[in-house]
Amino acid sequence: MFLRGREEVEAIRKAAKLVARTLEMLRDEMRPGVTTGTLDRLAEAFIRDHGGRPAFKGYRGFPASICPSVNDEVVHGIPGDRALVEGDIVGTDVGVELDGYFGDAAMTFPVGRIDAGAERLLQVTREALMKGVAQAKAGNRVGDISHAIQSHVEQHGFTVVRSLVGHGIGRQMHEEPQVPNYGTPDRGPRLMAGQVLAIEPMVNAGVADVVTREDGWTVVTKDGALSAHFEHTVAVGPDGPDILSLLE
Ligand code: MG
Repeated sequence: MFLRGREEVEAIRKAAKLVARTLEMLRDEMRPGVTTGTLDRLAEAFIRDHGGRPAFKGYRGFPASICPSVNDEVVHGIPGDRALVEGDIVGTDVGVELDGYFGDAAMTFPVGRIDAGAERLLQVTREALMKGVAQAKAGNRVGDISHAIQSHVEQHGFTVVRSLVGHGIGRQMHEEPQVPNYGTPDRGPRLMAGQVLAIEPMVNAGVADVVTREDGWTVVTKDGALSAHFEHTVAVGPDGPDILSLLE
């Protein structure tokens, strides 16, 4: 695990802010008829225009700049000619490398009007992320983050994906430690000021089990139920969490 000084945290913040701005731009494009491939091209151009590099492109051979994951797709969706339709939800994961530092964040966007169940899934997942973020303070342990996420999700009748986890981030997109979305309070690595984590609950409306499609990337719910994903890049500060992937 790495501890970052103030200058390095600010460098990661620059990358993470560009992620946030990219997500803000994409939110306005989420309408029926738009293809996920179009979203990908817009995101790549936006990131490069702002001096960044799309961190997912080429990562272990991933072919695109963003991961749009629609409805029962959990994460790692591959952009293509799929056109969004009214009522879809689109998990949108964006990673940026800027001046040698990485930022990573995700939001799940509604396309037009979505039904009440989908709306509730998005809200609970967003809340679970913030409950986890609130535990990212020096002296806590990773398990405190994990437990806060899991308990909020399960209280609302949803399930957390266990086979995919959050992670440290900084000079690489994935660093130690792993940050599971389930766990026990006061267990796991101790958190220290200067650590930077990508906290990212993946929450299913049905069973927790997931499978990977034959494309080798796209993770989908085993039962075909909806899934949502929200993520922030967060620095563990001496007095509490510092969310780096915010717009201002
Ligand atoms: Mg991540």
